[in-house]
Amino acid sequence: MDKTDIKSLDFNELENLIVDAGLPKFRAKQIYDWLHVKLVTSFDDMSNLSKDLKEKLSEKFYITALEPELIQTSKIDGTKKYLFKLSDGNYVESVWMKYHHGNSVCISSQVGCRMGCKFCASTLDGLTRCLEPSEMLDQIYQIQKDTEERVSNVVVMGTGEPMDNYDNLLKFIRLLSSDKGLNISQRNITVSTCGIIENMKRLADEKLQITLALSLHAVTDEKRKELMPIANKYTIDELMDACKYFFDTTGRRISFEYALVRDVNDTDEDAKGMIKLARKVGAHVNLIPVNPIKERNFKETAHEGVLAFKNKLEKNGINVTIRREMGRDIDGACGQLRKKVMDESH
Ligand code: SAH
Repeated sequence: MDKTDIKSLDFNELENLIVDAGLPKFRAKQIYDWLHVKLVTSFDDMSNLSKDLKEKLSEKFYITALEPELIQTSKIDGTKKYLFKLSDGNYVESVWMKYHHGNSVCISSQVGCRMGCKFCASTLDGLTRCLEPSEMLDQIYQIQKDTEERVSNVVVMGTGEPMDNYDNLLKFIRLLSSDKGLNISQRNITVSTCGIIENMKRLADEKLQITLALSLHAVTDEKRKELMPIANKYTIDELMDACKYFFDTTGRRISFEYALVRDVNDTDEDAKGMIKLARKVGAHVNLIPVNPIKERNFKETAHEGVLAFKNKLEKNGINVTIRREMGRDIDGACGQLRKKVMDESH
């Protein structure tokens, strides 16, 4: 019999399985607490369970535990980048960032990615597989254990397209924000998508209080198609409708991610287009100079150019931030560390 991934079960599912196995219900609370609050990775460490019960559990279930293979710490800002090994030998990366309002973790949602964005390192080798809810959670659990500091914000902005792993993403969000687990407020969880409309709408209908970030990166379909293959499937008009739907259904404002690529999407025309779109859906705009990857020759907009772009939007009443570039000295951009390690091992 295949064992069950116990860390991917929500409390009710766990409770049902415990009762089905003829065990007292209160055991579920104890076990859930060990897994999701005390963050142990072995049944042996669950010290208030009998030896018998521990054995029984390990026959039925396994505990997902990622192994930190490499941890790099930025000398510039203390950002930490983790390369984790999964039980099947695949690798994923996560990033820990310290902000004045708390600690933030950026997690991966898939091993690789099949979206093919031209500026992104995560997609160069395609998609290997989706991550299980437990594998998304454990990136945060391992980091909290390593840093010995509470994680207060989570962004699903690492490798992978979360909306291409919809069911596991939803489960992950529910587990992460459960008051029986780490209890991270949904308002402190951000999911970033290249814009898979059907699933943006499904997510809206769940009425979660999370923030949805749309990776826009261009304001015309023509330009977006040059940067992001997904633009061949959905138009910007359709995307804006989905954003409006998300806002109307959840009351949560959308944010647009916009990686500035020199002479590609940072012109005056682009700023004008951006003002229109952001106004249309009341979006907050997050600018970041593109982080160049060696496989492509995109160049980032210089700092003055980024500021100028920001000013144009602000003058027109748009809410803009420039995303702080954290950990540039440690392969901070999406997928760069995993790719480097994989390339070196071949
Ligand atoms: N697939 C999701 C989430 C992962 S990518 C998405 O598309 O949103 C997280 C963010 O990093 C996205 O906004 C993505 O477009 C951006 N990104 C990827 N590579 C980048 C690079 N080299 N420089 C700047 N931003 C990048």
